[in-house]
Amino acid sequence: MAIKIDFQRLKNDLIEISNIGRDPNNGISRPSFSKADLEAREWLKDKIRNAGLIFREDGAGNIFGRIEGKGKTIMAGSHIDTVINGGMFDGTVGVLSALECLRRIKEEGIRPKKPLEVVSFTDEEGNLVGDLLGSRAFVGQLDRETLEKGITQLGLPFSEILKNTEFSIESILEAHKQKPEIETYLEIHIEQGPFLETEGKTIGIVDCFAGKEDWLCSFQGESSHAGTTPFELRHDAFLGLADFALKSTQYIATHHYGSMLTIGKVRVHPGSFSTIPGRADFSLDFRSTSKETLEEIGKNLKDLAKDTALTRGLLFSMKLIDKTDPVATPPFLINILKEECQKLGYTYITLPSKACHDAQIIAQIASSGIIFIPCEDGISHSPEEKIQWEDLEKSANLLLDTLLRLSGSEG
Ligand SMILES: [Zn+2]
Repeated sequence: MAIKIDFQRLKNDLIEISNIGRDPNNGISRPSFSKADLEAREWLKDKIRNAGLIFREDGAGNIFGRIEGKGKTIMAGSHIDTVINGGMFDGTVGVLSALECLRRIKEEGIRPKKPLEVVSFTDEEGNLVGDLLGSRAFVGQLDRETLEKGITQLGLPFSEILKNTEFSIESILEAHKQKPEIETYLEIHIEQGPFLETEGKTIGIVDCFAGKEDWLCSFQGESSHAGTTPFELRHDAFLGLADFALKSTQYIATHHYGSMLTIGKVRVHPGSFSTIPGRADFSLDFRSTSKETLEEIGKNLKDLAKDTALTRGLLFSMKLIDKTDPVATPPFLINILKEECQKLGYTYITLPSKACHDAQIIAQIASSGIIFIPCEDGISHSPEEKIQWEDLEKSANLLLDTLLRLSGSEG
């Protein structure tokens, strides 16, 4: 007989944890290793132990609950940290759904052939030192310098934040040595985009993860007086940036529609009413599902920036901050998820993921996939984040059936 998740319990769990880290703006602020996050971690550890799962935590603070079996591990989860003033579903639905699946398997006395694990990865949101700290530590993809020199989003050295925890740079670097061999990793996540809602579908099966490059860029010009310097003598770094922002967006929209480009952080120097900007620093984030396209975009953006600089008498410089390659979900995993959706009678589409997720990092060591559920108006990273509860129930039941199948526990 098919087993189902206990949806009321999953919903109660989500509501309970959403009260940890409530901020005055009615959002949730639970950046990793903050007081609220440390409280949420203890809450999760209790839930794991109470479910009768084998609890484990690695040197990066990744939290696990395990059901023993033989061979490589089938893992599911996500993250419970949030951005500042975030919502209650991003990440958390993935961890708590996986927990509920394992809890049901345990309650039914099912003995999976392969081991099953729920995981909650540390700092997916990148409040500490770059995105996806926990999953990167898990696969052994962090370097010492990034951790030692890292300044967190709140402006404190990373090493300072670690003093409030039982973890150290050393333990984070060593974390990957403690991991079991992983066969497959699955993650339920809100879509954070509009496609499922627009298409009226419940489940999104991610068929590939977009790669991305993050650059820190700068146009260098000359500061001078806003009242006395004629236009033809100016070297206005902000106008260089403005030109580049429009032209680069037009370039992507015209030649690579579907790829993405964002200038999300801008600082103009010296930043006064009466001075022509002598320097404009800005972030550049671009993404694509094709490696070749990503490379082509990178090259053309660099040329475009240099041309823009030349026209306005400026200098352009850039530094690569982060780079991830696109990854395709293994076809066998897409097929299994499709088949399980069909058996359950759920509507689905396949779609790419253009946000970064832990699944993309785990893809380096295991077959890795994501199940998206719709979120209202595609809004995330905001107190306005909303889902339909029945979509979550369906996705958790899909995860349960898929975990049973992958771990050899069917029937
Ligand atoms: Zn997330």
